[in-house]
Amino acid sequence: MVRPQLGHMDPDLMPMLEETSALLRRVFQTANELAFPISGTGTAGMEACLVNTLEPGDRIVVAVSGFFAQRIAEVAARAGADVEVVEAPWGQAVDPADLARTLGRRRAKVLAATHVETSTGVLQPVQEFAAIAQEHGALLLVDAVASLGGVDLPVDQWGIDICYSGSQKCLSAPPGMAPVTANDRVRRLPRAHPVRSYYLDLTLLWQYWGHPHAYHHTVPVAFVFAIHEALRLTVEEGLPARFARHALNASALGAGLEALGLRLFAPAPLRAPSVVTVEVPVGVDEARVRERLLTDHGIEIAGGLGPLRGRIWRVGLMGHSSQDRLVLLLLTALETALASEGFRFEPGAGMAAASRVLAASSAA
Ligand SMILES: *Cc1c(COP(=O)(O)O)cnc(C)c1O
Repeated sequence: MVRPQLGHMDPDLMPMLEETSALLRRVFQTANELAFPISGTGTAGMEACLVNTLEPGDRIVVAVSGFFAQRIAEVAARAGADVEVVEAPWGQAVDPADLARTLGRRRAKVLAATHVETSTGVLQPVQEFAAIAQEHGALLLVDAVASLGGVDLPVDQWGIDICYSGSQKCLSAPPGMAPVTANDRVRRLPRAHPVRSYYLDLTLLWQYWGHPHAYHHTVPVAFVFAIHEALRLTVEEGLPARFARHALNASALGAGLEALGLRLFAPAPLRAPSVVTVEVPVGVDEARVRERLLTDHGIEIAGGLGPLRGRIWRVGLMGHSSQDRLVLLLLTALETALASEGFRFEPGAGMAAASRVLAASSAA
């Protein structure tokens, strides 16, 4: 990011735009031509994908079991869509059978879901959602903000039509860019009206990122440098190695937390590899624990969102922060913080359990 800036129309920048698209195709595991980062955070990617697929009055079914899927429904409603929400309790995945029933009752243009629901730590069965969308002739729109580059999401193989992410989660670039990809089914949708958002019109944006590199808006060039480098590092490590690293560190942390006598929030088969959620034990001040971790140990974890405020902690193990030594560091720091809250546990048990998981994998 501190490289000397290039102008947004400088011919020397163009190869970097093209490389960024090529790297993104690899990370999205897609042959889609359209793949580039929107100037903006994950929510800009969300809004772009919704306003480019939906026109006012179009029907969308949103699978909601957490904060970010709720946001999808809210953005779709503001875009004038006819929104139907299919819900599951927060901490569960939405039941594919419920989606099939809803789409069977009345056709929808789009089915939308989060892959990793960051508010609950739940990994949703997107592959099953894809089969249902195909069966009912709906486009599948997936939020991969908390999974791209950390959790396997083969866009083409699973039949995902349009997908967005964010630069600051499993890609570990600074916040400010939102990778998107869309297939030809999306790009060839007939439209009665131009896309409502000029800034987020994928067809216009692709004229800049792809050929002929025509001016649309001034891209934040330092952020392009950053995401280009983050994608290069992602591909250099390799997707399978990255997915395995995220899965291992999340299971080591989960084992460590359970060994301290804490209860994980997301049920075992649905636990996301990129965010671990754990219940706050009775009698413990959750905000004070987070503050202690931050001020005494330099570790930031998150509290619960919406109805889970005060009830859970959320630990992001995303991209560069998914490291075995950070898992062990957090468990040590957490022991100190929990002890000062008067919470009783077997000292050292968390570290020992996490180390066993890590050692078993390196022996394998
Ligand atoms: C973080 C996140 C978003 C929002 O991204 P911003 O970068 O904060 O705009 C959307 N969806 C999911 C699943 C997320 O984790």
